[in-house]
Amino acid sequence: MPETSCLFCKIVAGEIPADVVRETESTLAFRDIDPKAPTHILLIPKEHVVSVADVGDGHADVLADLMQSAAHLAHTEGIDQSGWRLVTNVGPGAGQSVFHLHFHLMGGRAMTWPPG
Ligand code: 5GP
Ligand code: ZN
Repeated sequence: MPETSCLFCKIVAGEIPADVVRETESTLAFRDIDPKAPTHILLIPKEHVVSVADVGDGHADVLADLMQSAAHLAHTEGIDQSGWRLVTNVGPGAGQSVFHLHFHLMGGRAMTWPPG
């Protein structure tokens, strides 16, 4: 069920515009509004899931779909050779600000380790 107050559910519903770069039956990928790297794409399940902490037994297919979309987009963005990062924040203490599961696909610049 979509959460009426959830920003990313509203993007899935088309109520808020987004620069969508890939869509599958169960997932959506769109450019981050405030990119932190030359490529910065958010990949989300269309279903409202708060974070990885809420992933359950029924989510295996959608998670595989998200990983495959990330690899596909890394290729189409031209960062598959230079390297890319896929990161998800769980909880405000880790930097999560939108409470609908999303993976940040980032690349196009040198990525430092460890992340801050
Ligand atoms: P978090 O901080 O939860 O890991 O990541 C949330 C991300 O969503 C941030 O990188 C932020 O820039 C992005 N974001 C917030 N609001 C919007 C929006 O309305 N549209 C898009 N495309 N990205 C957003
Ligand atoms: Zn949501």
